[in-house]
Amino acid sequence: MGSENGKKRGVGRRAVLLGGGAAVVGTAVLAREELARAWWRLPGMEKPRTDGELDHEAAEWTAAHQANWRRADRPDDYRIDRVVIHVVQGSYATALKVFRNPLHGAAAHYVVRKDGHVAQMIRELDVAFHAGNRDMNERSVGIEHEGFVDRPADFTAEMYAGSARLAADICRRHGIPVDREHIIGHVEVEGTDHTDPGPHWDWDRYLTLVRKELTKLPARTS
Ligand SMILES: [Zn+2]
Repeated sequence: MGSENGKKRGVGRRAVLLGGGAAVVGTAVLAREELARAWWRLPGMEKPRTDGELDHEAAEWTAAHQANWRRADRPDDYRIDRVVIHVVQGSYATALKVFRNPLHGAAAHYVVRKDGHVAQMIRELDVAFHAGNRDMNERSVGIEHEGFVDRPADFTAEMYAGSARLAADICRRHGIPVDREHIIGHVEVEGTDHTDPGPHWDWDRYLTLVRKELTKLPARTS
């Protein structure tokens, strides 16, 4: 799991600016195409978002509390080039519960259950507080896995498979290379005192699965 990183900022202010920004767009003489490219730079403007919208289609949406992430417009404001692998040190239900708790101060984008089921709790365009390192949070997508680092039996074939499908989808959509430089463990994040996913996480097996899943997906279009 992660730890606190940064404070939620500017939601109220952004909400106010959104009204002003919308008025600017209404009177702008920019060509539609030019506007489409630049509109997210306008003060307070953000990508349109719909409650419950998923980045990974196979996931089930269940929202983390807003105190555990920060609104952003990735990849326009921050490039996404890392996937960070975590282990909950608890159950899937525990992860969902604490990520919904505003006092927890941390949450990941995704939680993978032992049967391979995936919950998405934060949109990939937003910054989740999962890595305990601001720079890494801003550039990464975090995946939590049900279980404990010292219980190898927790890392089931179904969980590896579900997680690999998810990671392949993330890597395809953001153009992230599938290797150990770009898919890392929480333990490898600079300054962390976390050890997950631990010595029993089978990186070779996982990366092989991610690469295999990647070949089943359509080529990246953008
Ligand atoms: Zn972690």
